Amino acid sequence: MKCFKCEAEIPGDSRFCLSCGEKLQNYNKKNVQSLLENNRKKFDYLLFSFVFINIIMGFVLAIIIVVLLI
Ligand SMILES: [Zn+2]
Repeated sequence: MKCFKCEAEIPGDSRFCLSCGEKLQNYNKKNVQSLLENNRKKFDYLLFSFVFINIIMGFVLAIIIVVLLI
């Protein structure tokens, strides 16, 4: 990978640029990607929970309506 500051070629797992000493950890592509993936997983889980709760609530409401009508 290249240092985003001085564009020197450095090993991919470096935490600091060997040329200018700039901290690279926060700009690591893998970190950003895993962070985005984690957020997406959380969102998927929330969405699934929301849909699941809606289905359960609809089912419960249907039962209540049926019980009230009978
Ligand atoms: Zn650098």
